[in-house]
Amino acid sequence: MPTTDPLYSVRDGHLCFDRVDLAAAAGDRPTPFFVFSERRLRANVGALTDAFRSRHPATEVFYASKACSNLWFLHVVRDAGGNVEVNAGGELDKALAAGFRPEQIVFNGVAKTEDEIARAVSVGVRAFMVDSLHELGRIGAVASGLGAVAAVAPRIDVHVPTMTHPGLETAHGGKAGIDRDDAAAAFRLAADHPNLDPAGMHLHIGSQITSVEPYRQALSAALDIVAEVEGAAGVRLRFLNAGGGFAVPYREAPVTCHPSDYFCSLLTADDYAEVVAGGLQARRPDLGLFLEPGRSIAATTAVLVSRIENEKTKGRRDAAGRRIGDERWLTVDAGFNTLLEHTNYHWYYRTVVASRAGEEADAEFRLAGPLCDGGDVFAGDADSAYRWFPGATTVGDVVAFLDAGAYTLEMMNPYNARPTAAAYAVNTAGAFELIRRADTAADLVSHDRAPGFEAAAGLADAPGDG
Ligand code: PLP
Repeated sequence: MPTTDPLYSVRDGHLCFDRVDLAAAAGDRPTPFFVFSERRLRANVGALTDAFRSRHPATEVFYASKACSNLWFLHVVRDAGGNVEVNAGGELDKALAAGFRPEQIVFNGVAKTEDEIARAVSVGVRAFMVDSLHELGRIGAVASGLGAVAAVAPRIDVHVPTMTHPGLETAHGGKAGIDRDDAAAAFRLAADHPNLDPAGMHLHIGSQITSVEPYRQALSAALDIVAEVEGAAGVRLRFLNAGGGFAVPYREAPVTCHPSDYFCSLLTADDYAEVVAGGLQARRPDLGLFLEPGRSIAATTAVLVSRIENEKTKGRRDAAGRRIGDERWLTVDAGFNTLLEHTNYHWYYRTVVASRAGEEADAEFRLAGPLCDGGDVFAGDADSAYRWFPGATTVGDVVAFLDAGAYTLEMMNPYNARPTAAAYAVNTAGAFELIRRADTAADLVSHDRAPGFEAAAGLADAPGDG
């Protein structure tokens, strides 16, 4: 079996995900497409909530919808008892459309517009996580104009390194949040403003953090700051928002995981909860705990199914250009148009040849996407440039990218005019349903305007001027 995740199995030599034979599913529909598991999504929401609540009962989980804001997905999160974090007006609209009540929504983001703030104040979101002193003033002014009081939680940069991908580090002097030296000023500003309610404090130290140590340091620093600002600004906070960042084991763990390999994680929800919820309970049991997990809820809920469309063998050459061996290349129909992070963060997704899951993966291949860029090549297994697949793998075989539920649907793009992918879900009863349709040819030109183009292209189903 190519993975230890119990949601996967092998039937008739094919990889199954939550009972769905992925190669058979690819037999009668266009690839690439995603398959989500409702069962896994509900389990992830429940496990994370239980782990933290058992240690700090006043915990509320606000799923970070940036990880996947598909309406079906949000609907299941809500039905499973989750709340939601939104990062922009569009995510707010989607959360409301999925049925979240305003008090179940927190509004985050590092550049909120006045319009977004006005909309969020008007609908009555639970609280704003605030990125700067300027933004505090802006929220206060908008709330004043609407005759409302906005609950705010300044986001403080607690200056903790995380050993994750540098692009995912968010509380170590980067762009996000308020410098810790300005924390007291931020809370004083909020306390003195008649239209602001300084309800809490926010931190989010990054994503895919494979050690609990940064959380221990961040919590300690945050609670020091809370004590300081409560003294200096004369406020009494009601919650601490500890953000998200809990890691997913993208690499099947060997016996030990090197701390700098952020694709390899041995931690469970209980490990994070012990440090964050247990730590808060020990020092400030009166403070509510808000969490904003995205990846740890979404990643393992989906698999991306793609098909091999091309193959070749090229020479492997030394520095002098002498051929010293062969390289077998396989090109699939999903590249960084479908899995953007594989190039922008060199993200690693485990791959299995779903149509040959019963065969031994004993041969090395280079695996590439379909785009014209030389960079559209998937990272190899472990430290190599190669993926291990069954030696007979060839054009027409179906390749599954595992743990593809987080930051994937959200980031798809139609580069090379390739349609963005469809997504299906297996519901708890085992039924297979469409939850996102793929782009059509009409979708690909629907934003463009050119004289006579509608008539010339015959694209009657393209939306008109809107
Ligand atoms: N909260 C904030 C403010 C974020 O920027 C992010 C994403 O990095 C998250 C929560 C979710 O992080 P993750 O998906 O790693 O749990």
